[in-house]
Amino acid sequence: MKVLFAASEAVPFCKTGGLADVAGSLPQALVQAGNEVAVILPLYQKVAEGWKDQMSFVCNIEVPLGWRRVYCGLFRLDKDGVIWYFVDNEYYFKREALYGHYDDGERFGFFSRAVISLLPALAFMPEIIHCNDWQTALVPIYLKDECVRWPEVRGIKTVFTVHNIEYQGRYGKETLEDLFGLAPGWFADGTIAMDGDVNLLKGALMTCDAITAVSPTYAQELRYAFFAHGMESVMQRNAAKLHGVLNGIDMVRYDPAADPALEDHYSVSRMAGKAKCKAKLQRQLHLNEDPNVPIIAIISRLVSHKGLDLVCRVFDQIMDLNCQFVVLGSGDWNYEQFFEEKLGHYPGRMALYRGYNEKLAMQIYGGADLLLMPSKSEPCGLAQMIAMRYGTVPIVRETGGLKDTVHPYEAWCGAGNGFTFADYNSGDMLYVIRQAVDLYYNNPSAFKGLRKTGMTEDFSWSRSAQSYNEIYQSIRS
Ligand code: ADP
Repeated sequence: MKVLFAASEAVPFCKTGGLADVAGSLPQALVQAGNEVAVILPLYQKVAEGWKDQMSFVCNIEVPLGWRRVYCGLFRLDKDGVIWYFVDNEYYFKREALYGHYDDGERFGFFSRAVISLLPALAFMPEIIHCNDWQTALVPIYLKDECVRWPEVRGIKTVFTVHNIEYQGRYGKETLEDLFGLAPGWFADGTIAMDGDVNLLKGALMTCDAITAVSPTYAQELRYAFFAHGMESVMQRNAAKLHGVLNGIDMVRYDPAADPALEDHYSVSRMAGKAKCKAKLQRQLHLNEDPNVPIIAIISRLVSHKGLDLVCRVFDQIMDLNCQFVVLGSGDWNYEQFFEEKLGHYPGRMALYRGYNEKLAMQIYGGADLLLMPSKSEPCGLAQMIAMRYGTVPIVRETGGLKDTVHPYEAWCGAGNGFTFADYNSGDMLYVIRQAVDLYYNNPSAFKGLRKTGMTEDFSWSRSAQSYNEIYQSIRS
């Protein structure tokens, strides 16, 4: 199958969150599963600085966007069996940050229109265009809009993956024609309209051939108001084309036996290196150097849906458990401030790094004993899978992909690979943290067993690629 994968970020070129990990790894797995795959991304300033000398120029065209005719360059880079295309327009993409600009709607409207306009310039005409999140939500709509006049694209099918339904690309009604160049009928028949506004995500959900959510549980949850951010009725209406496919992780990149960020390497059969990673982490973060104290870590954006209010509510009780606590992340001021303030209360037992630091993240995965992820909602979550790969036992709330990947430890038979709680409740979270710390101190061999179970889980992309293949086949036949 010929697949064009459209995304707004991908590792190793640019990353702000989990989408980049997916877009960086799934395409290669799809190639290994027998597909021909190209990925198309915006050529952001950061990408250009790091990679442009390895790219070749393909062509430039004019892209129609409402009343504008916009310059669009196309660059190509071949890597790991995947063709990577980059859409160039310095006015839209030569900026420091990927998102958060006043004209994001126009920027990604341009990008989505460019994906369609550039189809004849690509190495192959795709059979499937696989889009991701609101930034590429206009692609299925533009495709439907164009195919009336353009027979060559008529047979292309679209898959739309919801990584996070919270971000929907919502704009005033006046943007429909002026900004996005769509006829009023798209709004009048409700396809792209929601609560009186243009809603790009809704448009994609209504027009694509298959919707996927990034975990089976998240696919179920999206039918309910608590999780769907107003999109529940749209999801219910399109339930027949909705699938849940669990994300994977890059098992080569995330490998404690080879990760250059780690103080020492280790694997299931040779765990000694993990203790060295822990000692290094304690030194580096000015924690008391004690190999026998469990380190609980949070590696996360510090935003409310990550469940941090639960942590704040019982933080002192957690610290009463004779553990060390490490937080890596940035985000909402109130959480940053909370952890900053707590630092002074727990010298030698707590560390905070405010910001984004990939190397430190890997060192924490390597050196910590427990990873806390009590999310209110979590479409898939990568951190818990990376943690397990590094022998760090996850403590999670049973939601979305956390529920699909972390199974509760059952003392009587030794089953499970982590600790879980169901209700969004700080008392329940504290209870399982206590269980985890208790197991660490009082049953080290069982705790070791949990680490090893996590390390041997198959979170590879090849499993997910197989599921996507089946979806591609089903909409082509
Ligand atoms: P989300 O996509 O909602 O941010 P995920 O768990 O799906 O959450 O993916 C987060 C990814 O970003 C993981 O790879 C995690 O290790 C990484 N990450 C999160 N916060 C930081 C940080 N402050 N520094 C470095 N890496 C981080």
